[in-house]
Amino acid sequence: MFDSRKYVEEVKEHVDETITLAGWVARTRDLKKIRFIVLRDRTGEIQIVVKPDNKEMFELPLGREDVITVTGKAVTSDVAKAGVEFIPDTLDVINKSIQPLPVDILENKKSDLDTRLNFRFLDFRSPSSNAIFRVQNALSTAFREYLSGNDFMEFQPPGIIGSASEGGADLFTLPYFEKQAFLAQSPQLYKQMCAISFEKVYTITPIWRAEKYNTPVHLNEIRQMDIEQAFADDENVMDVLQNTLIHMLEQAKEKTGEQLEFLGRDLEIPEKPLRRVTYIEAIEMLQGEGETIMWGDDFTKTQEKLLTKLVGKEAFFLKDWPGEQKTFYAMPYDKENEVDAKYLEETYGNVEIGDKIVRAFDCLYAGIEISSGTMRIHKVDLLKERIKYKGLNPDNFDYYTKAFLYGAPPHAGWSIGLERITMTVCGLDNIREACMFPRDRDRLVP
Ligand code: ATP
Ligand code: MG
Repeated sequence: MFDSRKYVEEVKEHVDETITLAGWVARTRDLKKIRFIVLRDRTGEIQIVVKPDNKEMFELPLGREDVITVTGKAVTSDVAKAGVEFIPDTLDVINKSIQPLPVDILENKKSDLDTRLNFRFLDFRSPSSNAIFRVQNALSTAFREYLSGNDFMEFQPPGIIGSASEGGADLFTLPYFEKQAFLAQSPQLYKQMCAISFEKVYTITPIWRAEKYNTPVHLNEIRQMDIEQAFADDENVMDVLQNTLIHMLEQAKEKTGEQLEFLGRDLEIPEKPLRRVTYIEAIEMLQGEGETIMWGDDFTKTQEKLLTKLVGKEAFFLKDWPGEQKTFYAMPYDKENEVDAKYLEETYGNVEIGDKIVRAFDCLYAGIEISSGTMRIHKVDLLKERIKYKGLNPDNFDYYTKAFLYGAPPHAGWSIGLERITMTVCGLDNIREACMFPRDRDRLVP
């Protein structure tokens, strides 16, 4: 039906030929002696010029966002911004839009976020929403591209699970025939199960967290971009994270530079290697600025911002977290092991600290946590010991621990939140803008 239709971006190659365009009426300007209709498609906008001698088209009622096709010729123009304008022979209205529009997609006066989200299907046509999701697409494409280009295999974890993967809190429960099931909070166990067979795996998958608070940086449904790698430790996967992140940022800049500019974001590509700041260093830096924070605390979102200023880098790692801050499967240091002991001695001048810290890291970008990762425990005895250390009952984790009884190599991995990274790359204040159909405490539609 629309096979021969051309896109606006192709028009310049077809000047003076008869072609058909299809799209939406972005706006019209009706003057006494001339009518301008701006048609918008996936690739851009073009001005259609109608003279009064074409009475029918000159008087045709047209509203913003009406869907039209137009057949005619593009001609070069000194006045039109794009250097070409379109002289129509025929113009058909395919479908009308209700007027007035409930959201101002021309963004002369930006509609409030709630209204925009209520009419998300229309809001996608506004330049800023459109720019955000093109950037998001560049980021997720680059993520897949980098990892599959480096021999990682894509895997598909389940969304419905039988037991909690990260401990009991923040789980959505749902009735599942005669049983109770949960929505996955992370693909954790499943990526580990895949990595101990396929070695290098990645996924982009939705996950759900019943976190009760409504914050500008949290959603209840997010997409996580995860990797897991066998025969690797925390340092190895920090290298993978740094390379993946840089590739994603480079691609976003290259493929969606125009959109980023529209959003007012001048992306700085971090230099390799990203700085690796230890948790203790970070605590001391913050204490030096008079912050109330102690060993064992997590950083607040404000402290993450301050820390970024103190470190002076757009992107960096925070490593060697206290065991109590991270999940039970995070690998502790082993001060009896020669390599670990050497690292602890060189970094802290004290091997005893190895009892308190685990091989876990966060990656901060543009002042906020975008990713967390750890080296995992692959030995069942140690895993059970750590489950107990967390005050949990190892018997409840049989489903998890038994995966490591049949030859599980050492492995490590991380997770980036797709909406979180989109938000930071686009410089947005609210994560809801970076999610096509956000789910939060109050929102389940559209
Ligand atoms: P935060 O401390 O920011 O609440 P977290 O440490 O609980 O996050 P992780 O379990 O480490 O989150 O998840 C990995 C990544 O997924 C995070 O670094 C973040 O990018 C993203 N993420 C986690 N929870 C949320 C959420 N509720 N909303 C949006 N993104 C999230
Ligand atoms: Mg985290």
